[in-house]
Amino acid sequence: MDKNIIGLSIILPIYNDAAAVSRFLPELFTFTNQQDKSCEIILIDDGSTDHLTSTYEQLRQQLPTNTALRLVQFSRNFGKEAALTAGLAQSQGELVTMMDADGQHPISVLEQMLAVMHSNNVDVVAAVQTSREHESLLIRTLKNGFYHFMQDTHRFELTPNAGDFRLMTRRVVQALLQLPERQRFMKGLYAWVGFATIYIPFQASLRQTGKSKFNYLSLFELALIGITSFSQRPLRWISRMGLIISLLALIYGLYIVADTLFFGKDLAGWPTLAAGIMFSAGIQLICLGVIGEYIGRIYEEVKQRPLYLVDKVLDSRDKK
Ligand code: UDP
Ligand code: MG
Repeated sequence: MDKNIIGLSIILPIYNDAAAVSRFLPELFTFTNQQDKSCEIILIDDGSTDHLTSTYEQLRQQLPTNTALRLVQFSRNFGKEAALTAGLAQSQGELVTMMDADGQHPISVLEQMLAVMHSNNVDVVAAVQTSREHESLLIRTLKNGFYHFMQDTHRFELTPNAGDFRLMTRRVVQALLQLPERQRFMKGLYAWVGFATIYIPFQASLRQTGKSKFNYLSLFELALIGITSFSQRPLRWISRMGLIISLLALIYGLYIVADTLFFGKDLAGWPTLAAGIMFSAGIQLICLGVIGEYIGRIYEEVKQRPLYLVDKVLDSRDKK
């Protein structure tokens, strides 16, 4: 075993999950210890305010000899997608995997992914959640609706319920790192880069400690990033809607003219007018909002701000 070549990098994005990490990492150490290649575990501290640094110091003492541990601390919370990107950028392994730090992604599934990768000539093995019973009905329905919307918009397909838990070869990681966008919807980016992929089903475990960091608002924001980065459908809807409404208005106009000319009816004045004006004003505002959503994203992109800022890096390989 060449110690300088890292066989497997495991990336864990962490935001205020120190308690979960101190439970999960010893399990992960047992796993890496059994591997016949060098491993590295990269913890991306996404601006946590809990005791992650001291947890890291404790964990470092328990490291198996074939495993390195690195803690990359952001200057503030930049979000999970940024943390994953940082992890990918930091990783050196020939194979790279990303797991949630809360223990919801079982190590047994990672073992399975490695086995599938070894016996098939593929670049990606992705885990797909078979059931999301642990999520509320509303969240599940909204997520289904989102995946449905994202279908057949593209030449590439977003596989529903395939998330960040996946094993990739170095060239896939390199491809992902080539995508410069600030608005990172990782699930879309995985689909975009392509490469031969095998999907394996898995059942997420329940969160051991702490709470999910994603609420309705942050999921909605992520969905918006996904839609605006990967679909121009809403923009097309706007022009179609404009066309339909104009047509209807034209037909109604002709009808009024005919009604007045042939039947000599009085014009029943302002209620129709008021309703019409309010209706079209509402529609226009909605359309402006949709366009604004896209412009906002463009604004974010053109500023070219870095995706994240690293405050400190602690590495078990460094001499004290
Ligand atoms: N996470 C992160 N930054 C954030 C939010 C979450 O790095 O801003 C991490 C979190 O610590 C966990 C993983 O992303 O390791 C998944 O988060 P969580 O369990 O809250 O999400 P869920 O499993 O409910 O989708
Ligand atoms: Mg979780």
